[in-house]
Amino acid sequence: MRNRLFMLSLTGSLMLVGCSDHAHDHDHAHDHDHQHAHSHDDAHGHEHGHGAHVHGLGNAEITLEQSQIYIRFSVPAGDLVGFEHPPSTDTQQAAIDDVLAILERGDWAVPAARARCEQISANAQTAYSGSHGDFLVNVRFHCGRLDRLNSLTLSLFEQFPAIERIDTVWISEQQQGVQQLTSRNDVVRIRQ
Ligand SMILES: [Zn+2]
Repeated sequence: MRNRLFMLSLTGSLMLVGCSDHAHDHDHAHDHDHQHAHSHDDAHGHEHGHGAHVHGLGNAEITLEQSQIYIRFSVPAGDLVGFEHPPSTDTQQAAIDDVLAILERGDWAVPAARARCEQISANAQTAYSGSHGDFLVNVRFHCGRLDRLNSLTLSLFEQFPAIERIDTVWISEQQQGVQQLTSRNDVVRIRQ
């Protein structure tokens, strides 16, 4: 019974985390430059990974479940290619393809070696809504010792310097936590 209650609350959390899926259906009347400037002194953070699409801010949701790690990462397209509309020239298409190829390598997500994880799949796509665009990425690992996973590095800051911060939520079958990653600390600490 206790376990069932826990699963219910976990489902609730996942739904909350899942809000980022819908963030871009909202009315994006805000001004980009204003949002970007605002993000610098935005001290309260975005603990549930949902809300406005803020330039310079990526979101990662990491779920640990039955020997697998699922990572869902999203970031404003403008931060990676400099524009947020669907590509209208070959040059723009090429810029997007380059970024998709990097993201789909999935090698920027590095689980601690002690958990003996292997990447199973990685895919990336663009999604547009109004005047906004995002890159959305899913990476999946299978781990021989998921129970030993105590950290996971997301090394994206060097390759994509316009990303200033990645708000991260991780959820295991027993625990969950939030962490803000920056170029100075891109390691998610996981307590199991
Ligand atoms: Zn935008």
